Amino acid sequence: MDCEEVRQLLDPYVDGELDLTRQLAIEAHLAECNSCREAAQRITSCSRFIRVNLPVYRAPPGLKSKVRTTLANEDKPKFRWFREHGRRLAYAAALLLLSCALAWTWLTLSPSKDKELIAEAVSNHSRSLMVSHLVDCASGDQHAIKQWFDGKVDYSPPVADLTQAGYTLVGGRIDILEQRPVAAIVYQHGKNLLNLFVWPATSRKIDMDVRSERGYHFCAWNLAGLNFFCISEISAADLEKFEDELREKINL
Ligand SMILES: [Zn+2]
Repeated sequence: MDCEEVRQLLDPYVDGELDLTRQLAIEAHLAECNSCREAAQRITSCSRFIRVNLPVYRAPPGLKSKVRTTLANEDKPKFRWFREHGRRLAYAAALLLLSCALAWTWLTLSPSKDKELIAEAVSNHSRSLMVSHLVDCASGDQHAIKQWFDGKVDYSPPVADLTQAGYTLVGGRIDILEQRPVAAIVYQHGKNLLNLFVWPATSRKIDMDVRSERGYHFCAWNLAGLNFFCISEISAADLEKFEDELREKINL
């Protein structure tokens, strides 16, 4: 892919809308090309700035007519009380609706954070499979992996041995999610690999039922102050089983 092609795809790339092949092709180009990488960073920080600083306060559809009705009531002489208090009521109604709109905006921002997290996790997972950077510590021993994480992250990710259940430990590495280093613990189930990301739920708690995107299944939960996000090509049922087995093993 040359610079011109990359530039044309940067917007959908930053928004995580590209298919895996083009996403990886662009990542490969960005790793080598300074000017395209800077352009991508500009777009990322611009869209982040907009998302963070410019919430949209859209008035709910009924607001205009409600205010009009209240004001119309003001004109009817027989509603003396309304004539005196109508304007105040209209302001109160408007204020109430505005707070609803604000709450709505806040609620819709959280899913967009999830969307970002999912895109990052999908790209971490697919990269770990394709560029032979699956593990930094290759070991099937839960204690060895746990020890390896010591000092590399400022928390202690639980590493469970799930061999009995059919999930073999492959190793561990450090990856990046939500702009912070996170522990990635890798398991193998049949022919497929599974990445389990673990990090402290300090800024927010993650909770997602099993979903799929770009051929991967993933789910997330929080337990004992930690967020867990696992992703793999294994079936949704196998992923759920993994979550159950893991929860049981690390039940603190
Ligand atoms: Zn370039």
